[in-house]
Amino acid sequence: MYNKNKKDRPSNPNQRTELSTLGEFGLIDHLTENIKIKHPGTIKGVGDDAAVIEIKDKMLLLSTDLLIEGIHFDMTFMPLKHLGYKAAVVNFSDIAAMNGIPKQMTVSIAVSNRFPVEALDELYSGILLACEKYNVDLVGGDTSSSVTGLMISVTVTGEAAKDEIVYRNGAKEGDLLCVTGDLGGAYMGLLILEREKQVFKANPDMQPELEGNEYVLQRQLKPEARTDMVHLLKGIDILPTSMIDISDGLASETLHICKQSNVGCRIFEDKIPIDDETRKLAMDFKIIPSVAALSGGEDYELLFTISQGDFPKIEPVHGISIIGHMTPPNDGIYMITNDRKQVEITAQGWDALRRK
Ligand code: ADP
Ligand code: MG
Repeated sequence: MYNKNKKDRPSNPNQRTELSTLGEFGLIDHLTENIKIKHPGTIKGVGDDAAVIEIKDKMLLLSTDLLIEGIHFDMTFMPLKHLGYKAAVVNFSDIAAMNGIPKQMTVSIAVSNRFPVEALDELYSGILLACEKYNVDLVGGDTSSSVTGLMISVTVTGEAAKDEIVYRNGAKEGDLLCVTGDLGGAYMGLLILEREKQVFKANPDMQPELEGNEYVLQRQLKPEARTDMVHLLKGIDILPTSMIDISDGLASETLHICKQSNVGCRIFEDKIPIDDETRKLAMDFKIIPSVAALSGGEDYELLFTISQGDFPKIEPVHGISIIGHMTPPNDGIYMITNDRKQVEITAQGWDALRRK
């Protein structure tokens, strides 16, 4: 018989409790019983027909994401705890990209009976870990069965002062284009995991070769949202003119900012921040490192523009790189390569053959 009290439950990794032993309401209680509300604005969390949230003279930000097994994640190499963590964090990243701070979230899941209760415990341990780290209240959700795979939908609220919200459409000619952290790592992590999956398929006795690739694996499996940068920019009195988070790759996000702001831009290849481990692995996979940064995606760093006048404030900041500047729209969207060629940036990254 399934023991609801976690403390008394032996932590046997092989334990498999059928979902039917708890039923829908039992499962919801089980998954949400240890939630403690952190924000005074969260008036009512789990347990009623709707959560109740109070906000005073602020803007409410709202964002949602849907993750489908086999489309957005692969259970063969994504541990459920990491999946839960990532599902939460990518939503926090959307709030950070508006220059806001995430506050509450709901999690809806659809699961087939292929998953035991223990699997959902793993998933929720990742979700709740992210909530602790980012100071977010889990205030509700929905639970349903599914015929085949696992589906997770996360919705998050955030707050920002009225005059502090940053949109994608505010970049101006002459603004500097900046990015936090480093890029391309999450993509290299994905390539490593896919490579090891193929090796494992061919010979299940082989141990995966993950050593030495810790940084890029962590970038893929346990990304972080740059809410720290939202605080940092505020601390040095910078309000970006436009901002977006890098989920699809530097190229695609740059195009979004340029199109919505009606500006062009120049990015300098040698200014794109790329970690040494990422660079080395890209070489091993015969990929130009800047292509991994431009097309790879899932780094969840922030890409933003600032007015030129803010240059002295941003220049000394560790962990922010100025990678280019915005131009008149007719000048197009180009990267200046290391060998001083101009190549057009497309949604796929850049096409080395399409030179200006
Ligand atoms: P309803 O019938 O109104 O949809 P439910 O029985 O589905 O209510 O949910 C009861 C409470 O549990 C609600 O507060 C809901 O937000 C919460 N809840 C349901 N499923 C989940 C879940 N997977 N994670 C977190 N909270 C959940
Ligand atoms: Mg419901």
